[in-house]
Amino acid sequence: KGTLYVVATPIGNLDDLSPRAAKVLGEVALIAAEDTRHTSRLLRHLGLERPMLSLHEHNEERRVDQLGARLDAGDDVALVSDAGTPLICDPGFVLVRALRERGARIVPIPGPCALVAGLCAAGLPTDRFLFVGFLPARSGPRRARLDALCERDETLVFYESPHRIRDTLVDIAASFFDRRVVLARELTKTFETFLDGTASDLLARMEEDPDQTRGEFVLMVAGAPPREDETTTVDGVALLSALLDEG
Ligand code: SAM
Repeated sequence: KGTLYVVATPIGNLDDLSPRAAKVLGEVALIAAEDTRHTSRLLRHLGLERPMLSLHEHNEERRVDQLGARLDAGDDVALVSDAGTPLICDPGFVLVRALRERGARIVPIPGPCALVAGLCAAGLPTDRFLFVGFLPARSGPRRARLDALCERDETLVFYESPHRIRDTLVDIAASFFDRRVVLARELTKTFETFLDGTASDLLARMEEDPDQTRGEFVLMVAGAPPREDETTTVDGVALLSALLDEG
């Protein structure tokens, strides 16, 4: 039986494609791609030509049997999205879940992923983080989602588009006040930038320099600081043990 390879592709800089990813893309019988035109540009850059099939949110369900049959026939298949790691805010989950249920061999070929690239250079805690993906497009539901995340003490990671980055920062300022925010823009590309400050600081930077609102974004927000009563509890324990020592 064949193998489904889940292959990460660059998020901007084509040199980030791993040699293993290039080898797999050159060897599989078929590439299932979010957008075949987009992926054919990558293949051209690599000097490769492979049969391709589209797999996007509107046809993923239908592709399951088709791709399952190819694996059953012994063909290897690669799954790629337009950028980064498939399934991370990209199609592929329905396919991978269904093929795993059927006992197919599924092999990840790891590589670029915007959330990891942003997080590893942001200087926010990485021991625990919550990846939230895209926030709702409308302000009401977005505010509600942000308010629901206010108490989380892990670093929060969001994807955001240039159309909404300002509105989202306004909502973050309202929900998170002066919490530290790091905005990673155009990762691995020519105009890669990190902005660091409160949401209001970042809005002021965008006012000065509208270029800061262009491109693709990973938005990261520091987790909630320890609550007053938790601090009090810790101090209370220390105080009690000091008193016992004295006694
Ligand atoms: N699968 C991709 C990954 O592994 O990161 C993410 C796909 S998602 C549809 C696209 C979003 O990822 C963009 O709207 C942006 O928030 C983020 N993103 C992708 N490339 C980026 C880059 N070069 N710099 C910053 N953010 C990026």
